[in-house]
Amino acid sequence: MERGARSGRRRVLLAALALWAAMPWAACVCWEAIPADGPVVDGVEVPDAPAPSAGGLIALTFDDGPRRSTTAALLDGLAERGIHATFFLIGRQIPNNMDLVRRMDEEGHQIGIHTYDHTQLTGLNRGDFAAQVDRTRTLLQDTLGHNHFLLRPPYGAVDPGVRAMAGCPIVLWSIDPEDWDDKDPARIVDHIVDNAKDGDIILLHDIYPTSVEAALQAADRLRRRGFYFVTVEELFAARHIPLEDGHCYRTAYP
Ligand SMILES: [Zn+2]
Repeated sequence: MERGARSGRRRVLLAALALWAAMPWAACVCWEAIPADGPVVDGVEVPDAPAPSAGGLIALTFDDGPRRSTTAALLDGLAERGIHATFFLIGRQIPNNMDLVRRMDEEGHQIGIHTYDHTQLTGLNRGDFAAQVDRTRTLLQDTLGHNHFLLRPPYGAVDPGVRAMAGCPIVLWSIDPEDWDDKDPARIVDHIVDNAKDGDIILLHDIYPTSVEAALQAADRLRRRGFYFVTVEELFAARHIPLEDGHCYRTAYP
């Protein structure tokens, strides 16, 4: 797809988001970010979440890909539904899947870094951190021709060193159905649908066929409840929350 067509679609999307934000259900919001620290190292408790809502904005995020056999099917399903998601990629899997990474970018999905080989980033020195994050960023930059990537540290592990060296915003999550555990699509779908709230970020992994199936089923059910799927960047833009380098974000609750 040409860049012009894509930016045109993005303008339409942003106009739709502005329209959504002007609707009555969004009228009494304070648009305040809930900056969060990493759940593993810093141990900061997540603020009380609002009750499940009927409708709103949700960001679907997928970690640990790309994996050809599953990511391609997910991209097909998202394209059929006109849904944009965010993918946090493993660097070492990029060279053999450059077409998939380009397709993500061209189809309006957002792309982030999930390290080169899924290494926990806390406690790393500058050189080791660069070998995980900067190396992956360079791979993505060479593949896509831009340098506009978020960071999701493996295991959500963040410490002051990770924040200082990130070089981009750090995005965690607010709903984790643990799709890697029993790989039961029905349970994963129920977990997502039962907990979904306006402003949530959902964590899934596009390396399991069961997660792809669950993501698409959950998307269909949530859309019937009035949810609208956006990328992480679009979610925070709709809430007028600036994403700053080295800061952690896990929700965009209104
Ligand atoms: Zn991961």
